[in-house]
Amino acid sequence: MPKCLICKTDYLPFISFGEMPIANGFLTSTQFENEYFFSLQVGHCPNCHMVQLVEQPDREMMFHDDYAFFSSTSKRQEIHFKEFAKSVADKYLSSDDPFVIELGSNDGIMLQNFASAGIRHLGIEPSKNVAKVAIEKGVNTISEFFDEKLADIIIEENGKADAILAANVMCHIPYLHSVAAGFKKLLKPDGIIIYEDPYLGDIVEKTSYDQIYDEHVFYFSVASVSNLFEQHDLEVVDVAHQDVHGGSMRYIIAHKGEKEISESVNIQRIKENELGLHLPDTYKNLAKGIESSRTQLLELLTDIRKQGKRIVGYAATSKSTTVTNYCSIGPELIEFISDTTPIKQGKYSPGTHIPVKSHKVFKSNYPEYALLFGWNHAKEIMENEKEFMESGGKWVVYVPEVKII
Ligand SMILES: [Zn+2]
Repeated sequence: MPKCLICKTDYLPFISFGEMPIANGFLTSTQFENEYFFSLQVGHCPNCHMVQLVEQPDREMMFHDDYAFFSSTSKRQEIHFKEFAKSVADKYLSSDDPFVIELGSNDGIMLQNFASAGIRHLGIEPSKNVAKVAIEKGVNTISEFFDEKLADIIIEENGKADAILAANVMCHIPYLHSVAAGFKKLLKPDGIIIYEDPYLGDIVEKTSYDQIYDEHVFYFSVASVSNLFEQHDLEVVDVAHQDVHGGSMRYIIAHKGEKEISESVNIQRIKENELGLHLPDTYKNLAKGIESSRTQLLELLTDIRKQGKRIVGYAATSKSTTVTNYCSIGPELIEFISDTTPIKQGKYSPGTHIPVKSHKVFKSNYPEYALLFGWNHAKEIMENEKEFMESGGKWVVYVPEVKII
């Protein structure tokens, strides 16, 4: 029986998605033979309520030197992080020479805002090729994984931090106790940790199971996050729901007893209880909802193809890998996936091997249907794709329910 990564309690998975490839492992046809697969299963710890992957693939397989995710490719993301950085600077950086650290700083999308304001900063980004882009932009970055040991080194070289930030990173890290212990040491007495990740409550409410893939080891709630940090003498002092990534939660954490706890923490915990995030039945129902979503989506796509109509996938996201593999959606249903990221074009989707082509190819001969893998950017995408819709094109979506728009 698997043991909870946070509290070591035994638990059972509530769903198995079967053998899955690396979600962001877009590959060439010569790499098909050696493609890496692992068993994607998720469970809920009955003791500390952390929802987590049962098996984690080798980290080197995920965050390697060819890692293909650059944050700055989305305009909406750029605006989001600019606002994020501004709120940190306005609220929390009042000392004479503040120092800001970001875990998983990617191509510097957030820290560039501090760099341009002349604020002392350090990005920690494990993917070397992504870190290089940040350094070229003038963002101080080291290529490492963050843990307690690295915290010691940073303190020695730079001193303690006023703010430690992370966006869509904490849920990637299996050894969170070492990270939390590192935070405890690295944070100034009145410093603040702010991080955000996809929110479990949204996954449960929207059946957005495509949030579940190799990189996301944990699916956080305010309850499970509070429990984790309390063990390190840190506490959640504020939370704020964010609309990015299909629903995220921002957690604001401080040394225990140092800051006033906002009412929003309690309000959110009450909401989580109402949603039943602490109850095993909630996850049984989620599993049923996921299975039913798969049946409906597969039937809809098969039906469209039987009518002789074309379907193209829209946005080769990491999320799409869970959907295509779990639902067995291959090139016989989806002609290709349209994506604007040059590094993915000409490659194939992980596991299902659907070709990825440029947006130009999509525009040159519109299909009747586009399967919207980037549903969390639906508004932005639909505004940009008026021409497709004017040509009679329709969208197939599957979150929160399977339907044609
Ligand atoms: Zn636990």
